Amino acid sequence: MTTARGTVLVADVIASLTRDVADFPTPGIQFKDLTPLFADREAMSAVIDALADVAASADLVAGIESRGSLVAAAIAARLGTGVLSIRKAGKLPPPVLSENYTREYGAASMEIPADSIELAGRSVVIVDDVLATGGTLGAATRLLARTGADVTAAAVVVELTGLGGRAAIAPLPVHSLSRA
Ligand code: AMP
Repeated sequence: MTTARGTVLVADVIASLTRDVADFPTPGIQFKDLTPLFADREAMSAVIDALADVAASADLVAGIESRGSLVAAAIAARLGTGVLSIRKAGKLPPPVLSENYTREYGAASMEIPADSIELAGRSVVIVDDVLATGGTLGAATRLLARTGADVTAAAVVVELTGLGGRAAIAPLPVHSLSRA
């Protein structure tokens, strides 16, 4: 990435614009707040360029609500693909498909429309902001697999390497722009 300050690695830009927040949202969690990164014009553009490279062959970019959806929409706009937001439980009108899962800070449920869009056979890349234990991306992969979609890869901005997420969702390829 080339900025007014010269050429720098996207991973370094991500690290410099990520705010580490201790004990949020629960005690013991070191939360990666990417808000400053997303608000920076050059950094956001570089992140979307890099993630768009990963998703270049996808027909649909699926993002995990809410930060993953924000990124997914920007990638889809860049690539000219469709976008799907994998929603938190209770946000979509019925009928829906649901998956329960456990993430680094507790259990949750995610949903997609059951029959209002055709997903069978479509090539999908799933996007999220942070990969921690892999519970979230694993559930998203299972959810999309139930529709007959072809999930080819996952892409994240930050991978927390100590939490085993990549192994948890193997053999799905995971592309991370930075590791912490
Ligand atoms: P996991 O399912 O454990 O991989 O958790 C990943 C999901 O939870 C992503 O949607 C993240 O937005 C969120 N998440 C988990 N841990 C963190 C963290 N330390 N900082 C920021 N977001 C996190």
